Amino acid sequence: MFDFVVIGGGIVGLSTAMALLERHPGARLVVLEKEEGLARHQTGHNSGVIHSGIYYKPGSFKARFCKEGARALVEFCRERGIEYEICGKVIVATEQDELPLLENLHERGLQNGLEVEKIGPEELGEIEPHASGVAAIRVPSTGIVDFKRVAEAFAAIVQEQGGELRTGTEVESISETGHAVVVRTGKGAFRARTLVNCAGLHSDRVARLCRVETGTKIVPFRGEYYELKPEKRYLVKNLIYPVPNPNFPFLGVHFTRSVEGMVEAGPNAVLGLAREGYKKTDFDLTDFVEELTYPALWRLAKKNWRTGLGEIQRSLSKKAFVRGLQRLVPEVEEEDVIPISAGVRAQAIRSDGALVDDFLIAEGTNSVHVLNAPSPAATASIPIGQEIAARLSARFG
Ligand SMILES: Cc1cc2nc3c(=O)[nH]c(=O)nc-3n(C[C@H](O)[C@H](O)[C@H](O)COP(=O)(O)OP(=O)(O)OC[C@H]3O[C@@H](n4cnc5c(N)ncnc54)[C@H](O)[C@@H]3O)c2cc1C
Repeated sequence: MFDFVVIGGGIVGLSTAMALLERHPGARLVVLEKEEGLARHQTGHNSGVIHSGIYYKPGSFKARFCKEGARALVEFCRERGIEYEICGKVIVATEQDELPLLENLHERGLQNGLEVEKIGPEELGEIEPHASGVAAIRVPSTGIVDFKRVAEAFAAIVQEQGGELRTGTEVESISETGHAVVVRTGKGAFRARTLVNCAGLHSDRVARLCRVETGTKIVPFRGEYYELKPEKRYLVKNLIYPVPNPNFPFLGVHFTRSVEGMVEAGPNAVLGLAREGYKKTDFDLTDFVEELTYPALWRLAKKNWRTGLGEIQRSLSKKAFVRGLQRLVPEVEEEDVIPISAGVRAQAIRSDGALVDDFLIAEGTNSVHVLNAPSPAATASIPIGQEIAARLSARFG
């Protein structure tokens, strides 16, 4: 009998396992991951940005955990010798009518206790000589890291502390008997006192296996990227972002430099036809039918069809994608970028068609479920894990 079973070997599941073993040294803990390796989904396919927390509603989990998480992550990387860099970023207004939004964002950054600075075109030119804009915000605390490496370091600590990692072990059913849960997989059953669901793109399904009514469903949004050809990397020094759409802060392609020195452009956001569909042509009948029969998604689509069409256009046409990039860096040409692998965001949508904005964590009888952990959850993974460990400790001792 285990004390804790954690479902999902992504950065959130591994951080949670690490936090549980820190609170309960010697506890019996197992992490179950369906893939043959760790961090194969969102954790291994993202922009690698240590977010500062400027965008998020003051007082939200996102605002709190992002700021705390960025600090904790940097400390962790420093201690463990994981490469990272606090290179800062600029958020650029390219048109006059974006100035009020930029002003609001600056205000929000101050409310969130961040060091943010409004700058004009001249200072922007000093920071990013090839970017163009009418004004910008400089966020010095933003950084870059490889989250897969961070997740692997969390996994090493879990093992050092006596936790077990079982890859290639997909959870198929769950039953609860009094004070225990029984998790059945293709590789046998695991009994535990408590369960933590960090299954990312499948977290709603795992919650349903526990008969936890979530009122939400995960909808996959594929994010496609291009890479600047090595001879064009000089166009971007660090991170260049557009002013976000307040309704869809994850929209708007941007430029990010990776710790390996690549410069990536993207991601866009198109509805995925498969929860793990990394290629445009990937299709999964179960996922597709579930999307098609979810009225909330139709409500969302009806309200935002124009935005959705723009994203589809940017997905189908390289020219349209590059036009988005040229708003920030006018010198980028179509032949300067090559497509690279995409990522898929697990975004929870409520039954009324609203996107769940904040991180969402729900509790079942003997379980805790992470139902919405989109960006910046990789940055915030350490405090998210600590929060879950604290909730479990308060309930189960
Ligand atoms: C395109 C993109 C860009 C992003 N950019 C950033 C960024 O720059 N900065 C940032 O902070 N965040 C970013 N994010 C968000 C960040 O990557 C995620 O918030 C984070 O990785 C979520 O981690 P997770 O552990 O919850 O999910 P995942 O990494 O998806 O892990 C979930 C795991 O659960 C496993 N699983 C699922 N079902 C089962 C089952 N039945 N049995 C066993 N195992 C199961 C999966 O195989 C998977 O490994 C981005 C995300 C995307 C997609």
